Amino acid sequence: MNTQMIKINPEEIDKNTLKEAAKILGEGGLVAFPTETVYGLGANALDEDAVKGIFVAKGRPSDNPLIVHIAEKDDVYKIAINVPQMAQKLIDAFSPGPLTVILKKQPFVSSIVTGGLDTVAIRIPAHPIARELIRLSGVPVAAPSANLSGKPSPTMAKHVIEDMNGRIDCIIDGGPCSVGLESTVVDMTGQCPVILRPGGVTLEDIKQIIPTALLDSHVLSSISSAEAPRSPGMKYKHYAPKAEVTVVEGEHTKVREKIRQLCSLAKADGKKVGVIVRYGEEASYPADCVLTAGYESTSYAASLFANLRKFDENGIEVVFAEFKSEAGMGVAVQNRLYKAANNRVIHV
Ligand code: AMP
Ligand code: MG
Repeated sequence: MNTQMIKINPEEIDKNTLKEAAKILGEGGLVAFPTETVYGLGANALDEDAVKGIFVAKGRPSDNPLIVHIAEKDDVYKIAINVPQMAQKLIDAFSPGPLTVILKKQPFVSSIVTGGLDTVAIRIPAHPIARELIRLSGVPVAAPSANLSGKPSPTMAKHVIEDMNGRIDCIIDGGPCSVGLESTVVDMTGQCPVILRPGGVTLEDIKQIIPTALLDSHVLSSISSAEAPRSPGMKYKHYAPKAEVTVVEGEHTKVREKIRQLCSLAKADGKKVGVIVRYGEEASYPADCVLTAGYESTSYAASLFANLRKFDENGIEVVFAEFKSEAGMGVAVQNRLYKAANNRVIHV
């Protein structure tokens, strides 16, 4: 398949160019597009064959449901039924933005989109290209992240090209994604909001609107086989780079010492070693590739997936990642980092 490349400046959207991509969506094609979280791989959510194409292009298991993206708040009611008032409150507070709500689905919403569930995940992206593309296409757009299943989500067009060139109809390059981690998924079908996946809208943000909101117990722990996960996506090993990642958690000076030791041991073992540090002193680590996450959780989030891909590009075999547990956006970073590390964590 020949993949058409389109470049669009998000600050000055060329509508005629974007219309070409919207037309491809309308005709049942697959289009990758930037959002504020990560790049999405979109198809017309009302076209079952198009949606099936997403699962094929990504190699995604068919029971892992997709998020339906819409442009306007009122469109929630076209896709969901029994929308509780607390869901409307969250949507009013955080949409458009990195918030996905799980609601009971309208009967016409295909079980291919929902992975056989009677609920549907809905999001209104804030990115101007994503929103305008959905408007121009005139349909709800089913879109998971635009990576091959099991790889870190793409936060730049070049990541999408690496994974999807030749597999989909069109890639829109709209620059890097600002949040860098996937949306916060909140189950709104129970008594109180339950965060199934942490993201750019934090637990603290949500509690400001609905104080009873809570994090699902699976978010910061490995999935125990005894208890079924509440989101199908939780049971899959996500965000796995080729390298074996170990998280080293604690105060900076202690973590730095520990990571230096671990690097030396791995080097002595003949391994190609990568390190993620919060800030500075990159040259002081005996490693092959040292990348900076930044001091703030938001910059850690924005750089994480790109850094994991960079290690793969450089043939890095083991990675040590500095981390310190934090509230807010730190919860989302921890969730993705632990998954990338398959829960290998050293506390110092
Ligand atoms: P992705 O689009 O690749 O970022 O993944 C979407 C995430 O939303 C996955 O973890 C899904 O399991 C989750 N999700 C989508 N629809 C539902 C739903 N109806 N109920 C629970 N989780 C969902
Ligand atoms: Mg994904």
